[in-house]
Amino acid sequence: MLYFSTRDTDKKFTFEEIILNGLAEDGGLYIPEQTPIFTENDINRLLCSDYETIAYEIIKQFTGETFTSDLLKRMIHDSYKSFRSNFVTPLTEFDGSLSILELFHGPTLAFKDLAMQLLSRMIEEVLSRTNSKASIICATSGDTGGAAVTSFANKKNIKLFVLYPKGRISEVQRRFMSTVKAENIKVISINGNFDDCQNIVKTLFSDRYFAKNVSLTAVNSINWARIMIQIVYYFSAFSQYKRLEKNINFIVPTGNFGDIFAGYIAKKMGLPIQKLVIATNVNNILERCLKTGKYEAFDSIQTNSPSMDIQISSNFERLLFDLLDMSPRVVKKKMSELKENGKFELSKSELESFKNNFDAGSLDQDETVKIIKDIYNRSHQIIDPHTAIAVGVHYKNSYKNSIVLSTAHAAKFPDTVMKAIGINPELPNISEDIYKLHENIIDLPNDVGDINAFITKNFSE
Ligand SMILES: *Cc1c(COP(=O)(O)O)cnc(C)c1O
Repeated sequence: MLYFSTRDTDKKFTFEEIILNGLAEDGGLYIPEQTPIFTENDINRLLCSDYETIAYEIIKQFTGETFTSDLLKRMIHDSYKSFRSNFVTPLTEFDGSLSILELFHGPTLAFKDLAMQLLSRMIEEVLSRTNSKASIICATSGDTGGAAVTSFANKKNIKLFVLYPKGRISEVQRRFMSTVKAENIKVISINGNFDDCQNIVKTLFSDRYFAKNVSLTAVNSINWARIMIQIVYYFSAFSQYKRLEKNINFIVPTGNFGDIFAGYIAKKMGLPIQKLVIATNVNNILERCLKTGKYEAFDSIQTNSPSMDIQISSNFERLLFDLLDMSPRVVKKKMSELKENGKFELSKSELESFKNNFDAGSLDQDETVKIIKDIYNRSHQIIDPHTAIAVGVHYKNSYKNSIVLSTAHAAKFPDTVMKAIGINPELPNISEDIYKLHENIIDLPNDVGDINAFITKNFSE
């Protein structure tokens, strides 16, 4: 299995190369040269397996000879053994039309644990083979940071730098990062919004001298390995689905388009998903694009679902590659239009093929609070605001069969939940201490030069 960039399909890369590079040198995103496709028999067999087996069967399609089967199985097992559910991602039926896939049973209570736990082990393994060092820099809108910090703490040969927008993430999210004690972790608060953090990361990546100097890699969802690992739970959801009819939509709280893109790959691999539904808050660039064909960035607005307060969805470029007939030339053209004018437009046929696989919907903040309340009143189940948005889109669009991806535990967003139902959602046992522990945070200006200097200095220490 080889990979190329969405902006240049001539150069090929191995899995080892792309997991360490993160972002392609040409600014594009890595994708597999071909998507492996399962036969119906393969799929039926997979759907009778447990989570770890499904994970192994899917991931080995993409990693080829990179890891021996024993090693891959062991890394998968180590990644998920501490999850608070035997199913890893349990599916619960809510009502006749709606089931909820719980992705929040990992150490930091958000779906990002699923990918980050395994990604960190893969990176550590690949580095150890050549005894090389790497620095990881990642921008977080809240949950990536905690998952990355927890997963990479004390991993060998790796330094992790996390940038988050000051005051724009919840206290629990911040504490999941700032209370982890590990020499190799630096948590940095930036005076700006998530897009500012992401722009700093992008600029540092395009600075080749810097990137080489500190062996830079990315663990944001631009890293293909994240997407690959997230494909697994779409299959796992089907394997737990009780009813016979399989015309299921997946509704995915969407920010950077990584999670839902994993669903798109699952569908390409043969999983009979009907529609992948983009659920967003008022930062709804993707919904607007699906409805009008115009992809146009506005300023991002702070909401009660902060992990989706994103305007530019990096992973959309991966879908764009497919929509634009896999032409790196046209992808480059659209992306430079976006950079110059803040927008581009899809043609009629490109928009049609987008709509063939996707649908979209959004909720504002009041609607989000109302859904949390409705769901609690109906079932005494407490859902987080991101999940609530997806649930709201299910009812708004009147789907027959949906699986909502529940991307975070309600306890990560206590203020909004409190506002909705007057209850403070309890943190699961393992994470209670974070309120008592000392926080380690470094304040830096919203300035690429300062971040560059900080990382360069710390990398060599
Ligand atoms: C990151 C995150 C999302 C968005 O996921 P993407 O892969 O960026 O689309 C949604 N909900 C929560 C709780 C998240 O942490």
